Amino acid sequence: LAQCTDTFDVVVVGSGAGAMTSAIFAADQGLSTLVIEKSDKYGGTSALSGGGIWIPNNPHFRAKGGHDGREEALRYLQAATEGRVEPERLDAYLDNAPRMIEELEACSRVRYAVADKYPDYYPHLPGALAGGRTLDPELFDTSVLEEELEHLRPASPSTLLMGRIAWTARHAHKAMARERGWRLMILWLMARYKFDLKWRRRSKRDRRSALGHALVASLRRSLMDRQVPLWRNTDFRELIQEEGRVVGVVVERDGQTLNIRAKQGVILASGGFEQNPALRERYLPTPSRREWSATPPGNNTGAALEAGQAAGAATALLERAWWAPTISVPGEDKARGVFAERAFPGAIVVNGEGRRFVNEAAPYLEFVDAMYRDNAATEGKSIPAWVIFDGHFRFHYAMGPLMPAQIKPDSRLPAQWRDRVYWKADSLADLASQIGVDPGGLEASAERINDFARTGQDLDFERGGNVFDRYYGDLNVTPNPCLAPLAKPPFYAMRLDAGDIGTKGGLSTNARAQVVREDATPIEGLYAIGNCSASVMGNAYPGAGSTLGPAMTFGYIAARHIAEQR
Ligand code: FAD
Repeated sequence: LAQCTDTFDVVVVGSGAGAMTSAIFAADQGLSTLVIEKSDKYGGTSALSGGGIWIPNNPHFRAKGGHDGREEALRYLQAATEGRVEPERLDAYLDNAPRMIEELEACSRVRYAVADKYPDYYPHLPGALAGGRTLDPELFDTSVLEEELEHLRPASPSTLLMGRIAWTARHAHKAMARERGWRLMILWLMARYKFDLKWRRRSKRDRRSALGHALVASLRRSLMDRQVPLWRNTDFRELIQEEGRVVGVVVERDGQTLNIRAKQGVILASGGFEQNPALRERYLPTPSRREWSATPPGNNTGAALEAGQAAGAATALLERAWWAPTISVPGEDKARGVFAERAFPGAIVVNGEGRRFVNEAAPYLEFVDAMYRDNAATEGKSIPAWVIFDGHFRFHYAMGPLMPAQIKPDSRLPAQWRDRVYWKADSLADLASQIGVDPGGLEASAERINDFARTGQDLDFERGGNVFDRYYGDLNVTPNPCLAPLAKPPFYAMRLDAGDIGTKGGLSTNARAQVVREDATPIEGLYAIGNCSASVMGNAYPGAGSTLGPAMTFGYIAARHIAEQR
């Protein structure tokens, strides 16, 4: 038998939202639980994320009088996943996701509110809702983390108002859509930050956190309440197996190799492989680069995938990622996802021929799928793609790291961003030649979009033609909140890479989150959740929160299954 230095009932590998959720439920079933994290910061990509969770038929929407139903949600998921995901896994998700969030909020410090205007990503599919399935974390007071706050992965400045102030997705949407009262709301958030004098003396960081940072902070505090240990700087290397059953893990900690026994089960929750160039090369479509990922450098390198494969696990969806177009900014350690800005009226995206190839407002996964498709069709002219906008857009709206010029004009941007982060010219033809795009093609695309802006109808890609597109449109712009002319100099271009916010393929699991072999038999004692498992969403991204919702739900399922097997 392997010599073990420590023994627990359950070892959870990774410290993202799914990992910590599973640890809370495991602890509450009376299982002694250890969470291990290889980095010196806990929280993973989850801490940098929007923290949104996609939970059909959830209690928050119902409490606000919203209507959703399991059957409707099932129809939607079946259509979105195109019959490629085992029905029992879809059922497990739909049955357990609402229970998970209800029980988690009842027993822990995690708090959500419904983002009731956030539509499902495929409004044309049967069972889609125009809002109500995505939950958005409430603000969380991080002072309760005490010293553990220092070890929490900091939020990306891009998710904070003015790079500093915490705001929820609901706040951000109100400001982006310029809904009534948005200016007052921003003033109030700024004043609350500024006059938090006690905390201001201590730190420039907001006392409150939002989005995924709030989620991870509230989960971490809930683990502290239960005295569940979280070992940072502890790198999972291998599984320990006895007679076909997983009974522990081998880790590197402080330069030492330790065997840790997990009497009841190991839950792998160590993220995907997007930070591993060799695995990207092996599995993902080309071109694809680690540097285009918006996830923390070096964290998710596929350790669980490789260990699971060595233990005989089947895998699926390895060629897929949670794609999102990204922009890289010099001096920043990871790329920034461009989620919303593509839908703002007046910006178009073109390939090297200067031609539009996709509805710019499409969901981020579909947008990058279209980049790959067009790149294949044009023999390499769509990766990178280019987002083009004019002086009017630049004044009013943000794009990647550029705040609207009415807040931060070009003269206040870092000088080294010019011709690296953004390009600028007085004419479209000049701009096109600066970035190596066909000038005639770009001018023709601009003329065509200007016609569409007048009529409100994008005859090529139907941009702004559905409730999802319009979520990020500007409601003050008519007749189509996602279309405006591209006409007022100067003109701007920014480079869009085929980035990701994590990979979505990994170890195959069953409806109980157990890792399975090719013949579908479970490897006893081994569970996988989050991006190290093949997603229950198949190829699709049904709504905001489709990665964290399942990670947390299958974490809940795994913990309960382990407790039942005891
Ligand atoms: P992670 O949260 O990355 O956690 C994995 C952890 O495991 C990491 O801390 C890593 O260091 C650790 N680890 C890795 N290898 C080892 C090892 N060998 N030993 C020990 N520990 C290890 N998704 C949503 O659902 N909703 C959103 O609103 C949303 N917004 C996003 C916004 C942005 C800007 C980004 C970048 C992503 C967003 N996502 C969102 C995607 C989501 O954040 C990820 O899909 C999700 O966090 C993955 O969770 P995970 O638990 O699998 O991995």
